Amino acid sequence: MKKTILTGIRPTGNLHLGHYFGAGQNWIKLQNEDYDFYLEIADIQALTDNFDNPAKVRHNVREIVMDMVAMGVDPNKLHLFVQSMVPEIAELTVIYSNLVTMARLYRNPTVKTEIAQKKALFGNSGESVTYGFVGYPVSQAADITAFEGQLIPVGEDQLPLIEQCREIVHKFNTIYGQTLVMPEPLLSETPRIKGLDGAEKMGKSLGNGIFLVDSEETVKEKIMSAVTDPDKIHKDDPANPEKCMVYYYHKLIKNKNINTVCEECKAGKRGCVACKKELIEKMIEFLKPIQEKRKELEENPQIVDDILIQGTEKSIKKAKETMKKVRKSIKIDYFNEE
Ligand code: ATP
Ligand code: MG
Repeated sequence: MKKTILTGIRPTGNLHLGHYFGAGQNWIKLQNEDYDFYLEIADIQALTDNFDNPAKVRHNVREIVMDMVAMGVDPNKLHLFVQSMVPEIAELTVIYSNLVTMARLYRNPTVKTEIAQKKALFGNSGESVTYGFVGYPVSQAADITAFEGQLIPVGEDQLPLIEQCREIVHKFNTIYGQTLVMPEPLLSETPRIKGLDGAEKMGKSLGNGIFLVDSEETVKEKIMSAVTDPDKIHKDDPANPEKCMVYYYHKLIKNKNINTVCEECKAGKRGCVACKKELIEKMIEFLKPIQEKRKELEENPQIVDDILIQGTEKSIKKAKETMKKVRKSIKIDYFNEE
């Protein structure tokens, strides 16, 4: 039997380098191996902190598909689908919500960090946080288990969410009998790509990302404002590249010149502006083939529709099978529905 992979992405904005290196490269590798691979566009989860802007979520579903395919995701090798089109996920969420305490949800470190980051929406000390947002790990457990996901390739920020899912699976199986499949996280070699601010992980919603669709002008502006070693004041001061986001991205996109960048920076032979200019050039070069591939999809919107229709169809089938088992286990399978 093939192992099943499930992973997801929120349609809250375009893909950035964090997705490319933190998760995407791993998906592309795995899609070529012998797995049954479900890739979810989590629109319902995106609404938990964008409920006041459904147009943004809707727009980004297509954007994400185009970015993913441009990056190398092959929809013929995995099932790319939209969360809201699989209503069984919502049904499972309700059922699982009985198995999680409020205290446990509030303790989730990723949810805590995200509530603190979203002050405009949830208040300065999180006093306006919604039931839906605090509960999104439950919905994510439904995403994973609906497809009997065994391996979950994610970035580091997702580990507490998978742990929460594992607890739900354990509790469900203990109370109702062995039904759900236990998932395991699968981290990439670079599970936490830092943002331009050098402090937080790069995030779509954090304003600290370099996006795969960024124009040359935008790349230029962003890199010019990237955080460098704060102790380097003058152009020829020696600096510590480990404290510099410009060096970090040189390394990330595998600049062949990386040893020179490092040595010159340490020796005070490289000014930050020159170093940024080199990175801008390399970054534009790196993004170019991705953007070219994306253009083909922009010109053929039907391709995106076809990808989603095909992937969603297969996903609904799988989720229905799981739902049947779950209903039986919790004794709400009153009639023999087909
Ligand atoms: P948002 O800010 O809206 O939450 P995001 O940038 O965090 O967006 P998600 O859609 O939440 O992106 O995450 C999709 C996948 O990409 C997850 O597996 C997540 O762990 C991974 N990921 C996101 N950002 C990074 C990052 N900076 N480094 C490594 N992996 C990341
Ligand atoms: Mg996120």
